[in-house]
Formats: sequence, C-alpha cells, structure tokens
Amino acid sequence: MCSLGHCPEVLRKALVEQGGKLIHCSNLYHIREQALLAEFLVEKVIGRAGKVFFCNSGAEANEGLIKLARKCACDRFGGEAKKNRIITIDGSFHGRTLGGIAATGQEKVKMGFDPLLPGFSHVPLNDCESLEQAVDESTAGILFEPIQGEGGIHLVTPEFFRVAAQLREKYDLLLLFDEIQCGIGRTGDWCGWRTVLRDGGVEVEPDAVSWAKGLGGGFPVGAFWVADEFQAHLGPGTHGSTFGGSPLGSVVSLAVLNEIERSGALKNVRRQEQRIRNTVASWKSPLIRSLRGRGLMLGFELDESHSYFRNQDSAPSLILVRELMEAGLLTVPAGQQVLRWLPRLNVTDEEVDEALNIFQKTIQRAAA
Ligand code: PLP
Repeated sequence: MCSLGHCPEVLRKALVEQGGKLIHCSNLYHIREQALLAEFLVEKVIGRAGKVFFCNSGAEANEGLIKLARKCACDRFGGEAKKNRIITIDGSFHGRTLGGIAATGQEKVKMGFDPLLPGFSHVPLNDCESLEQAVDESTAGILFEPIQGEGGIHLVTPEFFRVAAQLREKYDLLLLFDEIQCGIGRTGDWCGWRTVLRDGGVEVEPDAVSWAKGLGGGFPVGAFWVADEFQAHLGPGTHGSTFGGSPLGSVVSLAVLNEIERSGALKNVRRQEQRIRNTVASWKSPLIRSLRGRGLMLGFELDESHSYFRNQDSAPSLILVRELMEAGLLTVPAGQQVLRWLPRLNVTDEEVDEALNIFQKTIQRAAA
C-alpha cells in the first residue's frame, strides 16, 4: 500500500541510490540496512525489546506468526501436548497462502482448496464468550487484526483484547496481531492496536506482530516482530527467506518510515480523520449509515436499503466504487456494504477536500 503516495521522491531516490550500490545479499551475512530497519521497528514502532524477521508480503509474514505459535508451544510443552490450534475471528483476512486461507475467517477464500491446513477455528468478532469457549490447552495462539480491513473496517473492542490477554495468561498461548493493513501509521499511531485501545482505557501488548503493505510504501516488504522472550523459538534453521530483508527492500522501507516520522504524517492522519468525519457528518447523507475505522483507514457503511442500491444488481460498495472512479476518485470496497478510504498518510488538505467534494457530489446525485 502506498503510504506516501504512488511515486514519492524519497522512495524513488532510495531505490535509485541503493540500486546502484547493492540490490541483494544473502542473509548469511550481516546486512547493515536490514539491521537499521529492524532497529527502527523495534525502538520507534513497537518500543519493546524483540527481533524482526523480514519477508516479502503480508501472507508470508502471517505464515511466520503461525509457525512461531506452533513452534513455541512445541518447544515449551512438547509435541505430544498437541498444543497447535490457532483461533482467529470471523470475517478476518490473513492472506492467500494455505496458512493464510486456513487462518482467514471467510468461507469464500477457502473454497476449492481442500484439504486446508488443519488447526484453525474462528469466533465471531468481539464475542468474548465464544472466545473463552474456543480456547483450551490445545490453543497455541490467538491471531487477529485490531481493525479488520477486508472484512469491512471493524474494530476489535478493548474488552475482546482484555479477554484474549487473560486467556494468554491462563493457557500460555501467544497473542498475535495482524497489523498488515492497520499498522505502520495508518491509524495515526505506529501501532494500530494502541489507537484502538486508547479510548477503552485497556492496555494489551502482543507477543508478535505482522506487517507488510504500508511498510514498503508500495515496494514488496513484509516483516514480523517477536517479543524477546519468544524470539529464540524461530532461530536459524527453523525459518528463512532468500529475498526478505534485502539491502534494497530495507533501504526503501527505512526511507518510508523516516519520511513518515520527518513529515509528521501520524499527526496529519489524525487531523485529516477529524476533517473527514466533521464534513461527512454535516452531509447527513441517506446513503451513509455510519463512518467506521480510525485514522486514514475509514469505512463508509452504506445503507443497502436505499432505493438507489436496491434497484441495481451489484453490491452497494461496488456500485459506488465504480461511480466514484468515473468521477475521478479511487476507493476500494470492503465487503458488500462498505466503501473504504485508504489515502496516503501525508495527504494534503486540498486533496482531502477534492476527494470529499467528488464524494459528496456523487452521493447527492445517487440519492436524488
Ligand atoms: N493480512 C491483512 C490484514 C491484509 O489486509 C492482507 C492483504 O490485504 C494480508 C494479510 C495479505 O497481505 P499480502 O497481500 O501482502 O500477502
């Protein structure tokens, strides 16, 4: 995902300069650029001691989390304990690999790919009782997106985080956050879960976190962070990647993170969210039921019962995405009923105003 836009100068410069020096280098050697990127992620993004493993996509990063949870449980409790189950949430999305689709709580991504990787079950979003019932001694981890992206921009409640953290203590399992869409500044904080939890007065920290998308600003970079106490379980020989953490990918990613920090983009994300919320609320549009999400990960929940949507044969989100595209605004659906906005983190006032203007005109025309 293009966290700084489609061809930002800092990214172009990093690519050209590093491309002329060293593109790839085996992970058998110490790669200085990779270490600097890991340092930024550990010290500034997470702020807790740990280690980072680099890969090339979000699905790969989640594969790492799944392997970590299983290996950790096996090392600590023995293979015969069969502590290998992972609980995820209905409506979640965790990638298109076999591990990713098994973890994903949506039937449509699994269809036609049997036999699936065993050991996954899904519970309804924010249903603490179901979570408590699903977790037992065989559970190795609980994995979720603090804000569901593909599933329709749904926030996990602070209470659900709190219960998940209690179950971690009770059953010695790992708490794994998929921040592939909601992380790296998208919500106005480096870590999406901290934005989500701030209002709830709850503090929960994960044992491992996956990132991709915004981390490379459009360049294929994925990663996962593991808290210090668990990092040894995925030591050399247990996990690896040829291209992950290459000098080129690392320099590009570091350029993205440095620019987010230098330009005050996190503050901008929070400010633009407020501007968007205030403007959209003032429209009182009959097509929009609610505005969900945090920061610049926003979902407009559309009213599918409105006559404009009822008389057409596509999902409301798709209808509006198409209309907006024709009017000059690129958006994405998130499920059938939600139109998603994910602008660059350093989007300007003028760009936001222009987008709001196109959006307002389009939905006014549709509602008429
Ligand atoms: N996890 C989440 C929350 C995602 O939104 C996505 C992609 O949309 C993925 C994982 C998979 O990432 P990738 O497409 O880079 O494999």
